[in-house]
Amino acid sequence: MIELSHIVKRFGTHTVLNDISVTLAEGTVTALVGPSGGGKSTLLRCVNLLEIPTSGAIRLGDERLEFAPDRKVGWQAVQKLRRQTGMVFQNFQLFPHQTAIGNVMEGLVTVLRWPADRARARALELLEKVGMAHKADAWPATLSGGQQQRVAIARALAPSPRVLLCDEPTSALDPELAEEVVEVLSRLAREGTTMIMATHDLRLASRVAEHVIFLDAGVVVESGPPKTIFTTPERERTKRFIASLS
Ligand code: ADP
Ligand code: MG
Repeated sequence: MIELSHIVKRFGTHTVLNDISVTLAEGTVTALVGPSGGGKSTLLRCVNLLEIPTSGAIRLGDERLEFAPDRKVGWQAVQKLRRQTGMVFQNFQLFPHQTAIGNVMEGLVTVLRWPADRARARALELLEKVGMAHKADAWPATLSGGQQQRVAIARALAPSPRVLLCDEPTSALDPELAEEVVEVLSRLAREGTTMIMATHDLRLASRVAEHVIFLDAGVVVESGPPKTIFTTPERERTKRFIASLS
Protein backbone atom coordinates (compact mmCIF):
# COMPACT_ATOMS: atom_id res chain seq x y z
CA MET A 1 0.00 0.00 0.00
CA ILE A 2 2.91 2.29 0.78
CA GLU A 3 5.99 1.35 -1.09
CA LEU A 4 9.32 3.10 -0.86
CA SER A 5 11.71 1.85 -3.50
CA HIS A 6 15.42 2.56 -3.47
CA ILE A 7 15.02 5.92 -1.77
CA VAL A 8 18.20 7.97 -1.72
CA LYS A 9 18.38 11.40 -0.13
CA ARG A 10 21.47 13.55 -0.33
CA PHE A 11 22.08 16.95 1.13
CA GLY A 12 24.97 18.21 -0.98
CA THR A 13 27.50 15.39 -0.84
CA HIS A 14 26.11 13.96 2.40
CA THR A 15 24.04 10.83 1.76
CA VAL A 16 21.44 10.72 4.51
CA LEU A 17 19.28 7.90 3.12
CA ASN A 18 21.08 5.27 1.13
CA ASP A 19 18.84 2.97 -0.90
CA ILE A 20 15.89 2.42 1.41
CA SER A 21 13.24 0.00 0.20
CA VAL A 22 10.27 -0.75 2.43
CA THR A 23 6.70 -1.89 1.87
CA LEU A 24 4.02 -1.20 4.46
CA ALA A 25 0.66 -2.90 4.48
CA GLU A 26 -2.51 -0.91 4.98
CA GLY A 27 -3.73 -0.87 8.58
CA THR A 28 -0.32 -1.61 10.06
CA VAL A 29 1.98 0.44 12.26
CA THR A 30 5.69 0.62 11.51
CA ALA A 31 8.17 2.06 13.98
CA LEU A 32 11.42 3.61 12.79
CA VAL A 33 14.06 3.29 15.48
CA GLY A 34 17.76 3.91 15.58
CA PRO A 35 20.40 6.37 16.70
CA SER A 36 20.02 10.09 16.36
CA GLY A 37 21.10 11.25 12.93
CA GLY A 38 20.27 7.86 11.40
CA GLY A 39 17.75 9.35 8.97
CA LYS A 40 14.38 8.65 10.63
CA SER A 41 13.00 12.19 10.31
CA THR A 42 14.33 12.55 6.80
CA LEU A 43 12.64 9.31 5.76
CA LEU A 44 9.30 10.49 7.20
CA ARG A 45 9.76 13.86 5.50
CA CYS A 46 10.43 12.07 2.22
CA VAL A 47 7.15 10.15 2.53
CA ASN A 48 5.13 13.38 2.61
CA LEU A 49 7.57 15.19 0.31
CA LEU A 50 8.62 17.84 2.79
CA GLU A 51 11.93 16.59 1.43
CA ILE A 52 12.11 15.48 -2.18
CA PRO A 53 14.12 12.26 -2.48
CA THR A 54 17.21 12.49 -4.68
CA SER A 55 16.23 9.23 -6.36
CA GLY A 56 13.94 6.27 -5.93
CA ALA A 57 10.16 5.97 -6.03
CA ILE A 58 7.22 6.28 -3.64
CA ARG A 59 3.89 4.60 -4.11
CA LEU A 60 1.04 5.65 -1.88
CA GLY A 61 -2.26 4.05 -2.84
CA ASP A 62 -2.80 4.87 -6.50
CA GLU A 63 -0.16 7.59 -6.64
CA ARG A 64 3.34 6.72 -7.71
CA LEU A 65 6.14 9.22 -8.03
CA GLU A 66 9.63 8.61 -9.31
CA PHE A 67 12.56 10.78 -8.40
CA ALA A 68 15.82 11.46 -10.17
CA PRO A 69 18.44 14.16 -9.59
CA ASP A 70 17.68 15.79 -12.95
CA ARG A 71 13.91 15.47 -12.73
CA LYS A 72 11.78 18.18 -11.19
CA VAL A 73 8.67 16.90 -9.42
CA GLY A 74 5.56 18.90 -10.26
CA TRP A 75 3.86 20.88 -7.50
CA GLN A 76 0.51 19.25 -8.26
CA ALA A 77 1.96 15.77 -7.95
CA VAL A 78 3.53 16.77 -4.63
CA GLN A 79 0.21 18.12 -3.36
CA LYS A 80 -1.65 15.01 -4.46
CA LEU A 81 0.68 12.69 -2.60
CA ARG A 82 1.05 14.96 0.42
CA ARG A 83 -2.72 15.12 0.91
CA GLN A 84 -2.72 11.40 1.54
CA THR A 85 -0.47 11.87 4.55
CA GLY A 86 -0.88 13.49 7.95
CA MET A 87 2.12 14.53 10.04
CA VAL A 88 2.56 14.74 13.80
CA PHE A 89 5.70 16.51 15.03
CA GLN A 90 7.73 16.18 18.20
CA ASN A 91 6.87 19.73 19.26
CA PHE A 92 3.17 19.61 18.28
CA GLN A 93 3.38 22.76 16.14
CA LEU A 94 -0.19 23.84 16.72
CA PHE A 95 -1.19 27.20 15.28
CA PRO A 96 -0.92 29.36 18.42
CA HIS A 97 -3.58 31.86 17.39
CA GLN A 98 -6.24 29.25 16.79
CA THR A 99 -8.24 27.31 19.36
CA ALA A 100 -7.98 23.53 19.54
CA ILE A 101 -10.97 23.08 17.26
CA GLY A 102 -9.71 25.87 14.99
CA ASN A 103 -6.46 23.95 14.55
CA VAL A 104 -8.32 20.80 13.53
CA MET A 105 -10.65 22.68 11.16
CA GLU A 106 -7.95 24.80 9.50
CA GLY A 107 -6.83 22.43 6.74
CA LEU A 108 -10.36 21.30 6.00
CA VAL A 109 -11.52 24.87 5.46
CA THR A 110 -8.51 26.45 3.78
CA VAL A 111 -7.13 23.53 1.76
CA LEU A 112 -10.12 21.28 1.14
CA ARG A 113 -12.63 24.18 1.05
CA TRP A 114 -15.12 22.48 3.33
CA PRO A 115 -17.94 24.69 4.64
CA ALA A 116 -17.21 25.76 8.23
CA ASP A 117 -20.09 23.84 9.82
CA ARG A 118 -19.09 20.57 8.19
CA ALA A 119 -15.45 21.13 9.18
CA ARG A 120 -16.52 21.93 12.74
CA ALA A 121 -18.55 18.72 13.01
CA ARG A 122 -15.65 16.64 11.70
CA ALA A 123 -13.19 18.41 14.02
CA LEU A 124 -15.37 17.79 17.04
CA GLU A 125 -15.66 14.12 16.15
CA LEU A 126 -11.85 13.88 16.01
CA LEU A 127 -11.35 15.83 19.23
CA GLU A 128 -13.70 13.33 20.87
CA LYS A 129 -11.63 10.46 19.49
CA VAL A 130 -8.48 11.86 21.13
CA GLY A 131 -10.31 12.78 24.35
CA MET A 132 -10.07 16.54 23.78
CA ALA A 133 -13.65 17.56 22.96
CA HIS A 134 -13.96 19.26 26.34
CA LYS A 135 -11.08 21.57 25.36
CA ALA A 136 -12.36 22.41 21.87
CA ASP A 137 -12.34 26.15 22.54
CA ALA A 138 -9.08 26.26 24.49
CA TRP A 139 -5.97 28.03 23.19
CA PRO A 140 -2.90 25.84 22.66
CA ALA A 141 -0.87 27.77 25.26
CA THR A 142 -3.36 26.78 27.96
CA LEU A 143 -3.02 23.06 27.20
CA SER A 144 -0.47 20.58 28.55
CA GLY A 145 2.01 19.07 26.10
CA GLY A 146 0.07 15.81 26.05
CA GLN A 147 -3.16 17.67 25.32
CA GLN A 148 -1.49 19.70 22.56
CA GLN A 149 -0.15 16.55 20.98
CA ARG A 150 -3.58 14.94 21.07
CA VAL A 151 -5.01 18.00 19.27
CA ALA A 152 -2.16 17.75 16.76
CA ILE A 153 -3.07 14.10 16.13
CA ALA A 154 -6.71 15.10 15.55
CA ARG A 155 -5.55 17.81 13.15
CA ALA A 156 -3.37 15.38 11.21
CA LEU A 157 -6.28 12.92 10.90
CA ALA A 158 -8.84 15.54 9.82
CA PRO A 159 -8.50 15.09 6.05
CA SER A 160 -8.59 11.26 6.41
CA PRO A 161 -5.02 10.62 5.26
CA ARG A 162 -4.02 7.15 4.13
CA VAL A 163 -1.06 7.25 6.45
CA LEU A 164 -0.27 9.07 9.67
CA LEU A 165 3.41 10.01 10.01
CA CYS A 166 4.58 10.63 13.58
CA ASP A 167 8.03 12.03 14.27
CA GLU A 168 9.00 11.34 17.90
CA PRO A 169 5.43 12.02 19.06
CA THR A 170 6.21 11.51 22.76
CA SER A 171 9.81 12.73 23.01
CA ALA A 172 8.96 16.21 24.28
CA LEU A 173 6.66 14.88 27.00
CA ASP A 174 7.07 13.78 30.61
CA PRO A 175 6.27 10.08 31.07
CA GLU A 176 2.79 10.73 32.39
CA LEU A 177 1.85 12.98 29.48
CA ALA A 178 3.58 10.67 27.03
CA GLU A 179 1.35 7.89 28.30
CA GLU A 180 -1.86 9.70 27.31
CA VAL A 181 -0.47 10.16 23.81
CA VAL A 182 0.61 6.51 23.64
CA GLU A 183 -2.93 5.51 24.63
CA VAL A 184 -4.41 7.57 21.80
CA LEU A 185 -1.91 6.18 19.29
CA SER A 186 -2.51 2.58 20.37
CA ARG A 187 -6.26 3.07 20.08
CA LEU A 188 -5.78 4.43 16.54
CA ALA A 189 -3.54 1.48 15.76
CA ARG A 190 -6.19 -0.97 16.98
CA GLU A 191 -8.76 0.80 14.80
CA GLY A 192 -6.57 0.13 11.78
CA THR A 193 -4.91 3.51 11.20
CA THR A 194 -1.84 3.07 9.02
CA MET A 195 1.10 4.74 10.74
CA ILE A 196 4.82 5.22 10.43
CA MET A 197 6.38 6.44 13.63
CA ALA A 198 9.92 7.50 14.37
CA THR A 199 10.60 6.98 18.06
CA HIS A 200 13.26 6.52 20.71
CA ASP A 201 10.63 5.01 22.93
CA LEU A 202 10.91 1.25 22.63
CA ARG A 203 7.95 0.85 24.94
CA LEU A 204 5.82 2.89 22.55
CA ALA A 205 7.17 0.92 19.60
CA SER A 206 6.44 -2.45 21.27
CA ARG A 207 2.95 -1.41 22.26
CA VAL A 208 1.86 0.15 19.01
CA ALA A 209 3.92 -1.23 16.12
CA GLU A 210 3.74 -4.63 14.48
CA HIS A 211 6.81 -3.88 12.42
CA VAL A 212 10.09 -2.26 13.43
CA ILE A 213 12.72 -0.88 11.12
CA PHE A 214 16.15 -0.21 12.60
CA LEU A 215 17.75 2.60 10.65
CA ASP A 216 21.38 3.60 11.11
CA ALA A 217 23.48 5.90 8.96
CA GLY A 218 20.78 5.99 6.31
CA VAL A 219 20.42 2.25 5.79
CA VAL A 220 17.97 -0.35 7.07
CA VAL A 221 20.15 -2.51 9.30
CA GLU A 222 17.38 -4.94 10.12
CA SER A 223 13.63 -5.10 10.43
CA GLY A 224 10.99 -7.38 11.87
CA PRO A 225 8.45 -7.69 14.67
CA PRO A 226 9.23 -5.59 17.78
CA LYS A 227 9.80 -8.66 19.90
CA THR A 228 12.47 -9.97 17.58
CA ILE A 229 14.23 -6.67 17.04
CA PHE A 230 14.17 -5.67 20.71
CA THR A 231 14.96 -9.02 22.33
CA THR A 232 16.84 -11.13 19.79
CA PRO A 233 18.30 -8.80 17.16
CA GLU A 234 20.67 -10.40 14.70
CA ARG A 235 22.99 -7.57 13.86
CA GLU A 236 25.73 -6.37 16.13
CA ARG A 237 24.77 -2.75 15.45
CA THR A 238 21.17 -3.34 16.54
CA LYS A 239 22.29 -5.23 19.67
CA ARG A 240 24.51 -2.35 20.71
CA PHE A 241 21.75 0.20 20.15
CA ILE A 242 19.16 -1.77 22.12
CA ALA A 243 21.68 -2.34 24.92
CA SER A 244 22.49 1.38 25.05
CA LEU A 245 18.86 2.18 25.78
CA SER A 246 18.39 -0.19 28.69
P1 ADP B 1 17.12 11.21 12.88
O1 ADP B 1 15.71 11.71 12.76
O2 ADP B 1 17.23 9.72 12.79
O3 ADP B 1 17.80 11.74 14.10
P2 ADP B 1 17.63 12.95 10.63
O4 ADP B 1 16.82 12.45 9.50
O5 ADP B 1 17.13 14.13 11.37
O6 ADP B 1 17.93 11.74 11.63
O7 ADP B 1 19.07 13.33 10.11
C1 ADP B 1 19.87 12.45 9.37
C2 ADP B 1 21.07 13.18 8.87
O8 ADP B 1 20.68 14.13 7.89
C3 ADP B 1 21.83 13.97 9.92
O9 ADP B 1 23.19 13.82 9.68
C4 ADP B 1 21.38 15.39 9.67
O10 ADP B 1 22.38 16.29 10.04
C5 ADP B 1 21.18 15.39 8.17
N1 ADP B 1 20.17 16.37 7.72
C6 ADP B 1 18.85 16.35 8.01
N2 ADP B 1 18.21 17.38 7.44
C7 ADP B 1 19.15 18.08 6.75
C8 ADP B 1 19.13 19.25 5.92
N3 ADP B 1 17.98 19.91 5.69
N4 ADP B 1 20.30 19.66 5.39
C9 ADP B 1 21.44 18.99 5.62
N5 ADP B 1 21.54 17.88 6.37
C10 ADP B 1 20.41 17.42 6.94
MG1 MG C 1 14.54 12.82 14.03
